[in-house]
Amino acid sequence: MSLNTQILIAAIFGVIFGFILNLFPETAFLEMSLYGIGVVSSIFIGLLKMLLIPLIFSSIVVGVSNLQAGGQLSRVWKITVACCVTTTTLALILGLSCAHLFEVGKGVDIAMFQDAMASHQTPDTLTPSSFFTNFIQNTLINPFKAFAEGNVLAVVVFALFIGVALVKGGEKFRTVRKLSQQFFYIMMLMIGWVMKLAPLGIFALLAKLIATEDISVLSRLAEFAAVVTGTTIFHGLVVLPLLLWIFGKMNPMTFFKGTRVALITAFATSSSSATMPLSLKCAQENLGVRPQTAGFVIPLGTQLNMDGTALYEAAAALFIANLMGLDLTLSQQLVVCLTAMIASLGAPGIPSAGMVTMIMVLQSVGLPAEAIAILLPIDRLLDTVRTVVNVQGDMMISVVVDRHTKDLDAPLPNLSNPS
Ligand code: ASP
Repeated sequence: MSLNTQILIAAIFGVIFGFILNLFPETAFLEMSLYGIGVVSSIFIGLLKMLLIPLIFSSIVVGVSNLQAGGQLSRVWKITVACCVTTTTLALILGLSCAHLFEVGKGVDIAMFQDAMASHQTPDTLTPSSFFTNFIQNTLINPFKAFAEGNVLAVVVFALFIGVALVKGGEKFRTVRKLSQQFFYIMMLMIGWVMKLAPLGIFALLAKLIATEDISVLSRLAEFAAVVTGTTIFHGLVVLPLLLWIFGKMNPMTFFKGTRVALITAFATSSSSATMPLSLKCAQENLGVRPQTAGFVIPLGTQLNMDGTALYEAAAALFIANLMGLDLTLSQQLVVCLTAMIASLGAPGIPSAGMVTMIMVLQSVGLPAEAIAILLPIDRLLDTVRTVVNVQGDMMISVVVDRHTKDLDAPLPNLSNPS
């Protein structure tokens, strides 16, 4: 049975078990069951938290060190980075705006996170200057402290430096580059193991949710799923094609026709990494992108460019805050955007990777990590659509970069085969 089916079945059983528990209020059975599902869900969430920092670190080091191009090819990577930042920013703005517009999650008071909320500390209101000072003080620190404290931003900055150093050192640091790649693959392998536990974790989390919560939250979840799916589709069908048409001078119909195999594969696998060979093939053979451009942009984009994931994480953070009856200030929303952008950089292109990095987005504004319990049941569903948009973004950027670097003669390194 595929993991997807297992997760679906576990979700259904979790809901049913939660309802059954509701029938036995104040009994030893309820107490014992709540204890049991509490332990299972803590193990699952704990494992995800355990992998978060090493995963983000290795993912970014590998992504940046793939910018081998360096010196003479700086224009290529500058355009690539500019495209990634622009499309991700648009996705974030769209995600937050739609979550606001449709008021996702408003009007339900959720008790599940009361403990977490009791210790909830709203970060001080940030002025731009204090934001900047805080930013420097919190990010440029001893990396070991950052790892130990789970300071994601500091880890990201350190990873960026290491990545750049690996690019600059070139052949000299070949071993370290290889080592980081292998470390990254090990992290992916471990995420795979944790995902095997996902059905159990989801069962426990859902049963706990239903047994201890107001059911109206579930209808809010369906609303949220519809809003996020609609917004993601809008980004993929309107925003990205418009950018492609303006900056890549390509008819969106030609693009969709040429890339449909990769897009369908992305939908079915929920993994941009698994889809990458097809994205490369489609970009080169059907869209006419030069192999050296596609071989550089697409692997890099697979690692670092995820519009769908960023959009989802920003909207989801607002949804959780609304569910908990918290109004995020403008500066908190800015922090959500920045963290969601970093989270999408740090998420590898595998199923449900966004769920792991979601924790960091929640924590950035003091929301409890446990809140991902609410998002888990619909995560796999939403992952399909957001992965399509992630993959679409990578292929679209390869078209734009190719168009604007046609005059460069020097061949780009082919990074499509990381080994
Ligand atoms: N599944 C997504 C991808 O592979 C990542 C995510 O979970 O958002 O692109």
